[in-house]
Amino acid sequence: MSDCIFCKIVRGEIKVDFLYESDKVVAFKDIRPLAPIHYLIIPKEHIPSMNDISKDQQSLLGEMLLCATELAKEAGIDQGGYKLLIRTGNHGGQEVPHIHLHLIGGARLSEGIRAINS
Ligand code: AMP
Ligand code: ZN
Repeated sequence: MSDCIFCKIVRGEIKVDFLYESDKVVAFKDIRPLAPIHYLIIPKEHIPSMNDISKDQQSLLGEMLLCATELAKEAGIDQGGYKLLIRTGNHGGQEVPHIHLHLIGGARLSEGIRAINS
């Protein structure tokens, strides 16, 4: 059994309120929000990163993206706009090794993607 923090959230061992739940995906608020709206959408299955995605998981990624757009509408940030972000690996700044899609919005966001030393 994985002791990954997001697997613990999926199993209910760490209590968070789910904003969305299906048999494959859950969404919840990021504990350190970068903007007024900052949600994480994750697969229930432990998949360490985008490098581990296979072709038969295309629909899972589609569900995560659609979940994000629905939550953006629910939060009323769809017209103002938002960012969707999946960090991957060291250069991508990924901290939690369980795929998660960030939905960030509710205010104008900084660029925040330029390479260091470029
Ligand atoms: P990343 O840097 O893309 O791996 O993002 C990991 C995100 O997970 C960060 O934005 C953290 O604030 C968030 N996070 C870590 N632990 C928790 C938790 N227990 N509940 C909600 N969000 C968390
Ligand atoms: Zn996990």
